Amino acid sequence: MPDQTSEEAYRSLLQHSRELTWTAGLQALLGWDQQVTMPPEAAEAHSMMSSIIARIVQRKAVDPRVGAWLQTAGSEEWALTESANLREWKRDYEKAVKLPEDFVAKQAELASKAYEVWQQARERNDFGVFAPVLAEVVAMARQEADYYQYDGERYDALLDIFEPGLTVVRCEALFADLRHQLIPVIREILKSQPEKPDLFGSMDFPADRQAVFNRRVAADLGFDFEAGRLDETIHPFTNGIACGDTRITTNYRLADPLDTLFSTIHETGHGLYEQGVSADGTPAGQACSMAVHESQSRLYENEVGKGRPFWQHRLSAFNREFGTSVDLDDVMRRVNRVEPGLIRIKADEVTYNLHIIIRFEIERDLLREEMDVTDMPRVWREKYKEYLGVEVTDDLCGALQDVHWSDGLFGYFPTYALGNVYAAQLFHALKKDMPEVESSLAAGDFKTLHGWLREKIYVHGRVYMPDELIERATGSPVSTSYLIDYLRKKYLSM
Ligand code: ZN
Repeated sequence: MPDQTSEEAYRSLLQHSRELTWTAGLQALLGWDQQVTMPPEAAEAHSMMSSIIARIVQRKAVDPRVGAWLQTAGSEEWALTESANLREWKRDYEKAVKLPEDFVAKQAELASKAYEVWQQARERNDFGVFAPVLAEVVAMARQEADYYQYDGERYDALLDIFEPGLTVVRCEALFADLRHQLIPVIREILKSQPEKPDLFGSMDFPADRQAVFNRRVAADLGFDFEAGRLDETIHPFTNGIACGDTRITTNYRLADPLDTLFSTIHETGHGLYEQGVSADGTPAGQACSMAVHESQSRLYENEVGKGRPFWQHRLSAFNREFGTSVDLDDVMRRVNRVEPGLIRIKADEVTYNLHIIIRFEIERDLLREEMDVTDMPRVWREKYKEYLGVEVTDDLCGALQDVHWSDGLFGYFPTYALGNVYAAQLFHALKKDMPEVESSLAAGDFKTLHGWLREKIYVHGRVYMPDELIERATGSPVSTSYLIDYLRKKYLSM
């Protein structure tokens, strides 16, 4: 491209970025449809359509013109937003071109095979069925990290995909800290925890009633239904399809409307973030990282939704809607019950992080080739016993419980715990900045909270790296101390 000025190169990048984002939006739309509305017989046709779009997205991501534009545009000093866009375009491009097209195709093929085998292994409750294909997935993950290259160790390259800048060294420091502080806190909570109240007996809560209630809660929290939807699915998720189109999902559990509600609140937290970024097709208009995303859902689910102020306002509407007569103390005891268990997705907010630390250590050792896939059930048993004090009874409750590894997602789990760390730190800073926030939550007013998150997190998109964003929002570097303090205060002074 002779004689292109850096402004022209920037404009070309902008145009390309928008096309790529909107094509990826189509991919997300298809994914949403597969999980929410697609008739069963369309599965095969949809999977073909998805793979065509995936290929188009991949080709666009590695378009060699991007490299040339980046070089031209990079020769100039830019303002904050533009230079952040250039930094992130470069990051995305360099990652994309490092993986050979064949490798990407093979990895996708292996993932769909591994997912099927994982389901068969779950039906038979036998990790041995899954182990051979998982060994192939791990080998490809190692290869992928080698393609990306890394300064420290292999696993760093994969962590960096989900959380820019995250490394094994940083995870180890944060998680060792968390673990050592959490274990005594859990022990103390279990000693003083009252009985679990039975709130609903054998009552049944019809899905349509729950749908009305959950929709109202999401709207009250600030979710804009003119720019989004709430639908039902088996495994709840959020999809930011495009500007003006954010889709959240939930799952109606007929025996327990609280389980449903927290699932909805969690996805609403993700949804508010997606609705809060500008979604203009540039990195500056996108969510910062996986852990920052998770911090938004966790903050709404745990710090807000499981807090007393939220229920002071919401309980009467709940009782009215469902014909119950639940009392505030009982709700608090029920939603904040701590029970070390075997299943990550059923874990309470205190023990949850230990489930993640176990997965992080296993991934790290697999990537280091210090552990073999066939050792996983044994290591799983030992770690659950040591960290959570529970006996793993079978593979379904053990190493077969999560879908992530069948999909080759190594490096993803740590963002869940990091999300909890960020959430507690953000909530602490919010209360310091806005001392009135808890009384407004108790009055059912979420504008203070929403406005603060918009100003501190949403509007910045990917302009700052995740740890910088959290530090700017809270005034302190990322630290586990806020999470530990929050848990101690909430659970040991109840
Ligand atoms: Zn989430």
